Amino acid sequence: MTELQNIDLAITGAHILTIDQDMTEYKPGSVYIVGNRIIWIGPDDEQPGNFLIKERIDASGKILMPVFFNGHNHAAMSFLRGLGNDLSLDKWLNDFIWPAEKVMINPETVYLGTMLSVIEMVRSGSGIFSDMYFFEDQVARVCEEVGIRGIIGEAIFDFPSPSMATPQETMEFTRQLKQRFLGHSLVNVSVAVHAPYTCSPDLIRQAGELAEELDLSANIHLAETQTEIETISGLYGKTPVQHLYDLGFLSVRTVAHHSVYLSPDDRQLIKETGTSVVTLPNSNMKLGSGACAVGELIKLDINVALGTDGPASNNHQSLLREVQQLARLERVVNYDPTCISARELIRMATINGAKAYRMDKDLGSLETGKKADFQIINPDQPHWYPRYDPYNSIAYAMQSNDVESVVIDGKVVMRNRELINIDEKRLSRELKKKAGILF
Ligand SMILES: [Zn+2]
Repeated sequence: MTELQNIDLAITGAHILTIDQDMTEYKPGSVYIVGNRIIWIGPDDEQPGNFLIKERIDASGKILMPVFFNGHNHAAMSFLRGLGNDLSLDKWLNDFIWPAEKVMINPETVYLGTMLSVIEMVRSGSGIFSDMYFFEDQVARVCEEVGIRGIIGEAIFDFPSPSMATPQETMEFTRQLKQRFLGHSLVNVSVAVHAPYTCSPDLIRQAGELAEELDLSANIHLAETQTEIETISGLYGKTPVQHLYDLGFLSVRTVAHHSVYLSPDDRQLIKETGTSVVTLPNSNMKLGSGACAVGELIKLDINVALGTDGPASNNHQSLLREVQQLARLERVVNYDPTCISARELIRMATINGAKAYRMDKDLGSLETGKKADFQIINPDQPHWYPRYDPYNSIAYAMQSNDVESVVIDGKVVMRNRELINIDEKRLSRELKKKAGILF
């Protein structure tokens, strides 16, 4: 008699969008999980029978797809949400955000602010985010408590930060974080360089070398505004992209956020070096920065992913809304309804994020052997009917709270809209206690 294999979690009956290379769908399909990995995925009528299933979730009528990959965030900035609206990026940063951060940022506010954002992210289907901020060990603490994946990056720039006196200290802290979270199931570390206009050429070079030495992703805000282009051109006589290229910063490990102002030569440098781009359409629109020419980048086969940016410049944390806004923005700037497809947009929100951070071996699509990170969506609602094409429905009609359950690293993190590992009432009490100081 064949021995039965134990299955920790099986999801059956779902319409599965795998987002693999061929965009394979199973309708209905099942996913079998052992530990944190998918050991079988396929159509329901081909389910193997030699398994002993510990927990089964019947997802009949539901859509199952990878979690969204939020490629860039400053999650703790939720407590600065609404501060200094209707301003350009430089005025917003100089007159409101940086002075407020000086007095408000500490480990506790970073913990609480990140927690707020993480709850919003999980509720809208995100299972991983890349963060650039301060006291990033607190961000990691939130990831561990909630059960979400985080790529933590302590922000590096020339001047003292709320957490570090010098950039050298920040780089040393990054080194310690890498050691501390080596092999961690949820937390990864990145080298987070703020921007070409806040970092000296020497510092950018050193940060690039650190990323290479530690084999970490290096991410940076790049070519975000016209002001940045003028500043860098005035200082160094070149574009920000050319500047980073000359400093040896651009490579396959580099993730460039925004990339709104790129010359044709800049695009070639990004392509040549294998740099990925994370576009942040809502942040760019809200700050009036411009629009990243996503279609042009895709034509060059540059990997483009999506992010929300911090909640203070967006002001939400739903990657689904980024998908939906980008779908429209691309058409507006190109006067062309065929310039980007719903399938491309959903790949940007999932597998392209994983590729940008070189995690696509494990994340970004649902395939045998990959990590079990997915969301279950309830389409049994008026705004989903009729459903000619699920990708189209997601890109144009889905709402963030249609996400019913979220599984990350093989564990149910949200079930029927309720976060499993968080006492939201306790958190709410803590936030209210802080209200006099923060809000
Ligand atoms: Zn940012």
